[in-house]
Amino acid sequence: DDSHFQADMEKLQDAFAGFRQKYRLIKRIGEGTFSTVYKAEDLVYDKYDNSWDLDKEMEKWTPPPLKSCASQSSATLDYQSQPQRRRKPKYVAIKKIYVTSSPSRILNELELLHDLRGCQSVCPLITAFRSTDQVVAILPYFRHSDFRDYFRKMTVPDMGIYLRSLFAALASVHSHNILHRDIKPTNFLYDPDSRRGVLVDFGLAEREGYDCKPCVCHDDPGARKMKLRSLVSSKMKDGYPREDTRPSRRANRAGTRGFRAPEVLFKCTEQSTKIDIWSAGVILLTILSRRFPFFNSADDVEAMIEIATIFGRQRMQAAALLHGCMLETTIPTIGRSGFSFEGIVLWSTGRSETKDKLSEDEKLAVEFLSRCMELDPSRRISAEEALQHEFLRMGLD
Ligand code: ADP
Ligand code: MG
Repeated sequence: DDSHFQADMEKLQDAFAGFRQKYRLIKRIGEGTFSTVYKAEDLVYDKYDNSWDLDKEMEKWTPPPLKSCASQSSATLDYQSQPQRRRKPKYVAIKKIYVTSSPSRILNELELLHDLRGCQSVCPLITAFRSTDQVVAILPYFRHSDFRDYFRKMTVPDMGIYLRSLFAALASVHSHNILHRDIKPTNFLYDPDSRRGVLVDFGLAEREGYDCKPCVCHDDPGARKMKLRSLVSSKMKDGYPREDTRPSRRANRAGTRGFRAPEVLFKCTEQSTKIDIWSAGVILLTILSRRFPFFNSADDVEAMIEIATIFGRQRMQAAALLHGCMLETTIPTIGRSGFSFEGIVLWSTGRSETKDKLSEDEKLAVEFLSRCMELDPSRRISAEEALQHEFLRMGLD
């Protein structure tokens, strides 16, 4: 409520000496699980330079999407060749990280953001402050709309432009061997008017290979079969293998319900940047089907059931085995071979799966979707490959 918010702002302003002289808090713009974000005006900057132009500055961070790949990479190079340029925005987003977050977690977020400075479509970190246990990160303010307000109105070319911007961000993040882990609409700030977007929230991000143990999904199929032979042939008792020699597993499951990749649900211990691609696919499925949230599970088992309903028992069982898991189900809604994305999109947009057909544009989008929501992470499209896909090149040239 309002008085609570006022008190919060006072506390923040009092925590840092000189805060009031430097920033004018305008409003609260976000409240997440790990932080509260405020919009503020950077007052000191104004005194030195009145000519600063947010739009011009943003162009440097996010080259307009309607450009070919070749010129995009040169735009990045231009930008990197002038690192000495001061890029101080007039409006900033002040992210106040909850004091209950662990110091290592906060450091991780700031370090990764620092590593990703200058990356296309990634919201840069301007600076950060600490006062005892309170840490705030200062980011340029990025104008954006609420996903719920625009996703139903998007045409297929709009979707292509939106996703091109998201995948440009993913390609640069992944090229630094960093996985974001929490790709979802509220972490990709998009402005439908300028058709630009930036990726935010690296609170769950991690370096690929950090905290990893080998998973059988990285073995070649023959070796995997050998390792899992006893598991597959073992007799089941109450739904569990009778002689289970597998060590218990602990895997990073951080992320948001409904956006978790199947390998996260199957507790793969060797997760890769491909988990972000799955989540981006879920965003596309949401837009194409005009349903948000598309998946609505309370826990990982329900999430598995939802995915299995789409892909069918057979493919889901194969996906589980990839990571050394057995999947058995008698749930009647999980058919043997599931549904096609084409059918799901037709059905969820009020068309007949038998009489109606998708438009050519939609077919292209659905083909791209199936490359993102590929159950096997090693066969799933990479962000770099995605940028070459016809669907993401739709509005180009
Ligand atoms: P959390 O870890 O709490 O989810 P985020 O970094 O995702 O924090 O920020 C929460 C919300 O604050 C975002 O969904 C967005 O609405 C707003 N926000 C974050 N960064 C910015 C920014 N740079 N410009 C404008 N709004 C922002
Ligand atoms: Mg967030």
